[in-house]
Amino acid sequence: MICVSIGRGRHRHVIAEHKHLAENNIRLVELRLDYIQGTVGVKRLLKDRPCPVIITCRRGIDGGRWGGSEEARLMLLRTAIAEEADYVDLEDDVAVTIRRYGKTKRIVSHHDFHKTPSDLTALHKKLASMDADVVKIATMANHPTDNLRMLEMVRVSKIPTVGICMGDIGTPTRILSGRAGSPFTYATFQDDRVLAPGQIGWQRMRDVYRYNSISPTTKIYGVVADPVGHSLSPVVHNAALTANNIDAVYLPFRVPADQFDEFIAMADRWPLAGLSVTIPHKESVLHHVTSMDDLVKDLGAANTLLFGPSGVAAYNTDTKAAVDSLAAVLLDKENQTLNPGIGVKTALVLGAGGAARAVALGLKKCGVDVTVSSRTFDRAKKIGLDMNCKAVEWNSRYRLPYDCIVNATPIGMHPNVDETPFDKEHLRPYMVVFDTVYNPENTLLVKEARLIGCSIVTGVDMFVRQASSQFAIWHNCDASQQSMHDALKRATASAKQPV
Ligand code: NAP
Repeated sequence: MICVSIGRGRHRHVIAEHKHLAENNIRLVELRLDYIQGTVGVKRLLKDRPCPVIITCRRGIDGGRWGGSEEARLMLLRTAIAEEADYVDLEDDVAVTIRRYGKTKRIVSHHDFHKTPSDLTALHKKLASMDADVVKIATMANHPTDNLRMLEMVRVSKIPTVGICMGDIGTPTRILSGRAGSPFTYATFQDDRVLAPGQIGWQRMRDVYRYNSISPTTKIYGVVADPVGHSLSPVVHNAALTANNIDAVYLPFRVPADQFDEFIAMADRWPLAGLSVTIPHKESVLHHVTSMDDLVKDLGAANTLLFGPSGVAAYNTDTKAAVDSLAAVLLDKENQTLNPGIGVKTALVLGAGGAARAVALGLKKCGVDVTVSSRTFDRAKKIGLDMNCKAVEWNSRYRLPYDCIVNATPIGMHPNVDETPFDKEHLRPYMVVFDTVYNPENTLLVKEARLIGCSIVTGVDMFVRQASSQFAIWHNCDASQQSMHDALKRATASAKQPV
């Protein structure tokens, strides 16, 4: 069950949001009294409530906004019990001073905004001993293993326990808590109105992650990156899982570089079924794999892992996605093909990171004469050596004309949408312009190239293709590319960056 926390300054807004949530089949809300400005009317909030409530009033030390006296706060909590609130949330240092009364259930809670304590079992035992109907533990995750310890603590607890790790490292626990046995998880009214670090809006929790259908048999996939908050892979993969009716969920795993080895070593404890791998782990991941496809060998980098009984298999789906995206546009354009170099004979790849390397390799394999240009010239030269292609200084990128220009830098990506890596006066109508940036799809480079009459390949096209190849590897069936495409478009159409 998803419990939505409502934190608003006015009673009428709290009541309106409560009503709206109940109308949308939300069956539990948390009313945060500490957000209410002025005198709090508990009775008014509870009267005619459209669905059950948890009454909570947090002090500053617990991440709340309560500005009144402690005496007044405890009085509010006692009033909520007298008024038969369904649940009341009592922090562990006050729980024993407020006695059980009537039907109101007691949530005994502990918050730690700095760390996840080493002995969660002892902490749980202490909270459970305070006449708790539900134990709630919310702690900051500083390490991916904190999530595992939290979920394992929930799994073995004898009384209903909500265990959540805060912060973006902790996001997986919010989504997987029900799978471990929590009676509910907390979500916010909107993605951008968080009441605690790392919270997710209820609609994303319900519709993207399908929280209510996650069970102990649900397989776990995800993207591992640092940072990961900007990634649209969860949106795309969860949409395809829904469309294909697969019992799996795809999560964002933020894993710092120095914690990656341990994260992979702990894969069985989640257990992980498959991962998308991105910056900064695409190369270091190769230390952990037992097999790899030819593209991974050629590139020295993987973007996909499949965990199986015989080990971890690594794949790279970027190269094929880039080539197929280009090929599709060329086929549309006068029936040209990429292979073996018909249509596009020369290409300039801008950037020298993982994407540039993957695109350069794909084009070389098709017989295209590739030149790489990069801000850090040494990186372009390295690709040149490894892939047997040319390298030019960043300032020399306009010196020769090319049939195809590929942007494999983040230039033009949200929020820097007014930037382009290639000035429009150097674009020509015969060129194919391929921008790997997918957020937004219509980058400044794409818009200017379209106006000039160039053929266009967008990052959305490549992104959906690489994701659907991953999907086929993991689920042994074709993804609904349309559902991936639609989900990506919806997410990028929003002016705000998804969190
Ligand atoms: P990366 O490994 O960090 O490489 C980024 C490259 O861009 C580096 O060569 C970097 O130069 C260069 N660069 C960054 N900012 C620049 C600037 N302001 N001016 C000039 N050069 C700049 O990243 P990546 O994995 O290759 O990804 C690059 C981009 O490709 C991403 O931002 C994403 O938009 C896109 N991408 C798209 C897909 C897709 O499926 N559509 C897949 C992967 C990537 P330095 O070496 O000097 O830092």
